[in-house]
Amino acid sequence: MVAENMDELVSLCKRRGFIYQTNEIYGGLQGLYDYGPLGVELKNNLKSSWWSSMVYERDDVEGLDSSILTHPHVLKYSGHEETFTDPLVDCKDCKSRWRADHIKDNLCPSCGSENLTEPRPFNLMFKTNVGPVDDGSNFAYLRPETAQQIFTNFKNVIDSTSRVLPFGIAQIGKAFRNEITPRNFIFRVREFEQMELEFFVEPGTDEDWHEKWVEKRIEWWENQGISKENIQIIDVPKKDLSHYSKKTIDIMYKFPHGVEELEGIANRTDFDIGSHTRHQKDFQIDSKVIKNEDSVTKLAIQNKKTNDWVIPFVIEPSAGVDRGVLAILNESYRIEKFDDGRERTVLALKPHLSPIKAAVIPLKRNNDEIVEKALDIKRMLQSLKLGRVLLDNSGNIGKSYRRHDEVGTPMCITVDFQSLDDDTITVRDRDTMEQVRISCDEAPNYFQKNLL
Ligand code: ATP
Repeated sequence: MVAENMDELVSLCKRRGFIYQTNEIYGGLQGLYDYGPLGVELKNNLKSSWWSSMVYERDDVEGLDSSILTHPHVLKYSGHEETFTDPLVDCKDCKSRWRADHIKDNLCPSCGSENLTEPRPFNLMFKTNVGPVDDGSNFAYLRPETAQQIFTNFKNVIDSTSRVLPFGIAQIGKAFRNEITPRNFIFRVREFEQMELEFFVEPGTDEDWHEKWVEKRIEWWENQGISKENIQIIDVPKKDLSHYSKKTIDIMYKFPHGVEELEGIANRTDFDIGSHTRHQKDFQIDSKVIKNEDSVTKLAIQNKKTNDWVIPFVIEPSAGVDRGVLAILNESYRIEKFDDGRERTVLALKPHLSPIKAAVIPLKRNNDEIVEKALDIKRMLQSLKLGRVLLDNSGNIGKSYRRHDEVGTPMCITVDFQSLDDDTITVRDRDTMEQVRISCDEAPNYFQKNLL
């Protein structure tokens, strides 16, 4: 089961501390959101799962964490200055602005007027001034994708790791796009995170690698709890391809507002690496133009057998963290109704994604012995380093269960008078609501087995 509409998710996120609107006390900033105490855990867990699968579980990928502010030449020669635009349409009556491809039947979506301007290109990149002089010449862009900083570090990484093709560089980080109409909660925002891999391959092997990566990425989303029936795979039509792409497969997900892109897997050919190699000649440092052919860093790699220099082709699986969080929240949300009329909300998250792995609940909040025992159990479980374990001493066990079901805590542990006598605890499973009594000695194994 999934959420019936976006409002259910937005309300749960705010109520339970997953996601808040940025600067809400001042009226908010459109297209920007903050992750609260539980949201930050869920987001970090999703990113760790991606990092494990892309870097730790492979032997052919290195990691990177590069700067957000980007030299204008990088985004000039990547083609973004010229082509990273959306067609913008103004409504002359109500003054609202729209992306041309979001307009139906030539009518303003806000007031219904036909009085619209012709579409004109609007560049989505944010610019900012660098240094104390604000005369328009010392500016940098906030990166619109993490990929370009991977390309500009290509040579650094091969020089320091002696990698040969095929190999990849993975990065997770913020990207910024001045979206014309941010909307649908965290689906389309102006500041978001991407999980990107640039996988460098011998030209000619790119199409095979592209197929392999599409398969691998679908499998990964399924392991995060995304069900097959809510995924659609789209071969992006030639006319809609980005300027750098020879072929792109989009993994589309059935979000509460409709089927839209969750991740794109592009064959970027040698477009970026080739362009950055060709265009370094006339770069500028501190207002001086350097014109020196010798200064060109060849973003190429030497084939160890033939000694030929190769400009690799690049396969890029690029996933949005925020869209991932939204898809996972949607996928795991359910309302269960019981025969007696009661109902409960459950977030059936995979345990590796759950913000809280276990809640330890003392049955009597004012009994020092029980609370101390519960604290011992919390510390013991926390030391297993499986993620956050919480001592929940709110005093009402029924309410605690309901709260933890709603935020996806896989297990609730109660400590009672019997625990003091025989060193046992009760474990309640979120999904089945079944309870088992186990001894404290067995607890570490039990949790390791059920939470990983
Ligand atoms: P869309 O067509 O939906 O605008 P895109 O094709 O421009 O997306 P890409 O450039 O392929 O997106 O970016 C890779 C991934 O980054 C997307 O699949 C998406 O998950 C994420 N992403 C892109 N733009 C946004 C945004 N404005 N808000 C949140 N996530 C985004």
